Amino acid sequence: MDTNLQKDDFTGTIKFVPPLHKQRYQFIKDLVIKYKPKKVADLGCADCTLLRMLKFYKCIEVLAGLDIRENRLFNFERFRRHTLSPLPGDYLQPSERSLTVTLYHGSIAHEDPCMLGFDLVTCIELIEHLEATELEKFPKVVFGFMAPAMVVISTPNSEFNPLLPGVTLFRHSDHNYVLYIALAVEAATRYDYTVEFTGLGTPPPGTEDVGFCTQIGVFRRKYPKNGETVSSEKPTEHAYKTVFKAVYPSLKDEKYLQNAVVSEVIFGAEIMKQRLLGNFKSEDMEHSDGLQMQLKFQPFKYFLMCSKNHSPVEAEKLATDRSMEPFIDGNTVYIPLTKIFSIPKVNQLCGTIEKLSKLIDGKVALSNDGSAVIVTIEYEDEEQEN
Ligand code: SAH
Repeated sequence: MDTNLQKDDFTGTIKFVPPLHKQRYQFIKDLVIKYKPKKVADLGCADCTLLRMLKFYKCIEVLAGLDIRENRLFNFERFRRHTLSPLPGDYLQPSERSLTVTLYHGSIAHEDPCMLGFDLVTCIELIEHLEATELEKFPKVVFGFMAPAMVVISTPNSEFNPLLPGVTLFRHSDHNYVLYIALAVEAATRYDYTVEFTGLGTPPPGTEDVGFCTQIGVFRRKYPKNGETVSSEKPTEHAYKTVFKAVYPSLKDEKYLQNAVVSEVIFGAEIMKQRLLGNFKSEDMEHSDGLQMQLKFQPFKYFLMCSKNHSPVEAEKLATDRSMEPFIDGNTVYIPLTKIFSIPKVNQLCGTIEKLSKLIDGKVALSNDGSAVIVTIEYEDEEQEN
């Protein structure tokens, strides 16, 4: 017997482990990992379970859900909205990718331009719920109008019903395997797609003819994407109502990128300042025990006594003279931008030193010529020192 299949010795019924609905979602997740689609739409998304799983896949930038039953989406709105909305952590550490999640209320029987340009469209256990008139329009809308690169359609196999006596009541009796294959092949041929049949839930030995419990068709568009021309010929009128939209914070958005860079720069500059002060202290500590005591308690004061104040122009000249190393002048630490740019995270976020300079301008204290980040050394509290 299939490792997914378990027989209850007492009732004689069989069940799949993990349950088929979980296997169906896993099937889609595996496809996403393999093909890395950027735009994914789930038609008949119900309570958005699949969408909530897919939002964690970094390749996906646009997620859309459509359902005809607004109360299902309404339930989602009331109770599960937060699960598709950005969380505080998404704002604290915005992702590299952009992500927009939108839910629409409408019928698959209607064409809406919001469904154009998708890489993957999933229809999980949807077609068996369609009215005859909707089912008739389904291939034209999905393959002809939406025309995504890939479509996955899953539907239950009625021929499996006798093998699932406990659940037959919940399964329509007309989800005929042969009929489904015929419809799928016709749709693929008419709209220029290839189709590959597979499924989940293998029948017990001796009943292999029945086929998979869940039938799956994976359709791939044969012709190359020609988005511009195709979509310009398509209607622009909206048939669906947007019931939810979440735009996730992303480093692609200049505002979030700037925040991320500024905090990395401030943090990096502070570390460099501390390191510089620490080095300064340890070098001098080698020379005198008395000084060591003095440094232990008054390191900043000692530094201030020894350093000389330069004019800003002189200090900037020093920055170049000292071959781009951070240095202290008076009560100010100068950290050349080249040094800041060498911090891996800053380098990765900005790409060029010019971009770094632009992003931190006005947000981080810079030398007059903008070539160095400046950090002031604060005096330690007198009382604490004594
Ligand atoms: N895909 C989900 C839910 C399947 S139930 C899952 O795998 O769990 C089928 C869903 O399709 C229901 O939520 C139903 O409201 C929706 N549906 C039925 N007819 C529809 C239509 N014409 N257009 C869009 N959604 C439809």
